[in-house]
Amino acid sequence: MTVSWALWIGASVAIAALMALWAIVRHLQGKACEIPATSDLWSGRSYACPDCGTAMEAGWVMLGKGAIWSSRDKGPPGAFAHIGSALPNTISLSLRPAANMAWRCPSCRLLLIDHSKLVKPARQGGTA
Ligand SMILES: [Zn+2]
Repeated sequence: MTVSWALWIGASVAIAALMALWAIVRHLQGKACEIPATSDLWSGRSYACPDCGTAMEAGWVMLGKGAIWSSRDKGPPGAFAHIGSALPNTISLSLRPAANMAWRCPSCRLLLIDHSKLVKPARQGGTA
């Protein structure tokens, strides 16, 4: 095998991988529900920690490659879990990425995530 032939195969594999990644990203973006940040998003959304019962702190969470969840029966996600298997509305690929509303209990270190939607960051001076 010549070096140029090996380079051609390597480049083809790299291009195919990029196209597959692009297809996954397009698919995820098409399924995502992104809404603008407004202060009324938080009204009526207070939760007590399921462990200690104190009020959870409201905030935002951004999940790098999405929330990859697996049922207890199936066991933890494996090393080959990928963004295509992430829960809906847990990945934002925008330059100004959207985030999930979340609540946490700092003492118990429990996190509650709303992934019914992604919330786009407010423009300057936003109060959400
Ligand atoms: Zn707690």
